[in-house]
Amino acid sequence: MSKGVLYVVATPIGNIEDISQRALETLKQVDFIAAEDTRHTRPLLKHYGINTPLRAFHQYNEHAKLEMMLQILDAGQSIALVSDAGTPLISDPGFPLVRELIQRGGRVVPVPGASALICALSASGLPTDRFMFLGFPPRQTGQRLAWLQTFADEVSTLVFYESSHRVADSVAAMCEVFGSGREGVIARELTKLHETILRGSLESLSERLRQDRDQQKGEFVILIRGATGDAGERIEVDIEQMLITLMAELPLKQAVSLASRVSGIKKNILYKQALKISGG
Ligand code: SAM
Repeated sequence: MSKGVLYVVATPIGNIEDISQRALETLKQVDFIAAEDTRHTRPLLKHYGINTPLRAFHQYNEHAKLEMMLQILDAGQSIALVSDAGTPLISDPGFPLVRELIQRGGRVVPVPGASALICALSASGLPTDRFMFLGFPPRQTGQRLAWLQTFADEVSTLVFYESSHRVADSVAAMCEVFGSGREGVIARELTKLHETILRGSLESLSERLRQDRDQQKGEFVILIRGATGDAGERIEVDIEQMLITLMAELPLKQAVSLASRVSGIKKNILYKQALKISGG
């Protein structure tokens, strides 16, 4: 075991057996374990008969503890950083420590294992060749809608974390922003007793959550298929938006004429669309 090394060790996201032999050996051999919450980590260590000293490295004292941890590493002791579940630094504390240690020329060794986002992605049935992990959406409704909007045209599969308190609202917001027909997956309680993976259109998923409150319990990864880049769909959406904007400023005929000049689409087609928009 190298001294003065920070080991970033992944722990299970539910099923206690989802931890590597190397992770267990590392946890046994380091000088101490820095845990996000010692109450979460203690049962895991007990289960595997690991008696390494445990210290709290909580989100709220992360900066205060950072200097102390760096001094310990400088002095040649080794530390294993763990979070409550999954891989540290992935929507979990640890980034300032890892960054600072690297800047000081220290050694950071990853000990890989579970992470909810990869676990969910691997069973989602959505494209995995390109994905974008976005963590937790903003909690406030308006901010969440505006934030989601920035990813509406993203072609990669989108991956979000969400809590039980907000999963129904978030999926409803995603349905509003990405469109009711966009394909999505809700991966709940992965590797645990109530593991459920729901697949379907965002509208059907939102409806399912609203109708079945049990589906709102636990921990969630939400995945959304990236924008398909389907030209037909895109033109329809863009033109409609253009018409709405022009119609808010100009008489209908003029709005249609301008939209036709910009888009090259025939006036009579746009006129019908404009009448639909205005409810005519
Ligand atoms: N570091 C962790 C990882 O690597 O996955 C994530 C930590 S983040 C604070 C916790 C969030 O991860 C939960 O709110 C949920 O969105 C997701 N998550 C964690 N465990 C999960 C599980 N078993 N099933 C589904 N989602 C899970």
